[in-house]
Amino acid sequence: RIVYLNGEYVPEQDARVSIFDRGFLFSDAVYEVTAVLNGKLLENDGHIGRLVRSCRELQLTLPVTPGELEAIQRELIARNQLREGAVYLQLSRGSTGDREFDFPPAGTAPTLTLFTQARPVIDNARAIKGIRVITLEDIRWRRRDIKTVGLLAPCLAKEYAHARGADDAFLVEDGMVTEGSACNAWIVTESGTLVTRPLSNDILHGITRRSLLELAKTHNIPFEERAFSVEEAYNAREAFISSATTFIWPVVNIDGRAVGDGEPGPVTRALRAIYVEMALRATA
Ligand code: PLP
Repeated sequence: RIVYLNGEYVPEQDARVSIFDRGFLFSDAVYEVTAVLNGKLLENDGHIGRLVRSCRELQLTLPVTPGELEAIQRELIARNQLREGAVYLQLSRGSTGDREFDFPPAGTAPTLTLFTQARPVIDNARAIKGIRVITLEDIRWRRRDIKTVGLLAPCLAKEYAHARGADDAFLVEDGMVTEGSACNAWIVTESGTLVTRPLSNDILHGITRRSLLELAKTHNIPFEERAFSVEEAYNAREAFISSATTFIWPVVNIDGRAVGDGEPGPVTRALRAIYVEMALRATA
């Protein structure tokens, strides 16, 4: 792979970052993942907009303009001939050549890295068959709206899920589902209403989540932005997750209990089809 590091396109084995980099020492870094379809970026304005917000919240300065960033993403897609998958980008506060908690002096160069990942987005087995999740206590910090690389809690959640024969986890705080380990969580009620948690510092403000709500509106699918309990999720007619690289994956089992009849539900399948259609049109 050709990757990007601070202004240069280099083979991945030649990309070197200091061991004192604050991303490495303190997870003092933010990131974004944009899906690529047909060699084109999907919903990238949303992702770059959220990156700008994450930077603002952490007093991180983006060393390039949003337009320049998109040009780098496009160049990397071209150099790697990526058709389907994702572009990962990360900005860390850089390094002063030592380990100090205090933010480095103004003018310290941040570290900007980008790389591509090839993977099937449209024809993905889990999108068709659905996934099994377990519920776990949400042990993350209280600024989940900022997309930082401090991802140990979601790594643990996935490990616990896999050890228990599941694919992923729904994270739970005070009895209510916050989101998935790397995705937003949704249920469909008996009456066919979509339910997903409202925006706050408790969850990442998913770009896919936002688009799905807009698509639901235009397709007259009723929705409510409110927290839902684990109990309500057990008894939901359908459940699913959303994120940039999954779009929508049905959740067919929670804590060993089948959701609905244990098969991907019609509302979930219809919403995925609507999103896929939009995505294919946007990247045609
Ligand atoms: N929630 C968390 C914790 C995430 O890590 C992600 C994506 O990585 C999402 C939600 C979904 O966000 P998006 O749809 O912008 O990918």
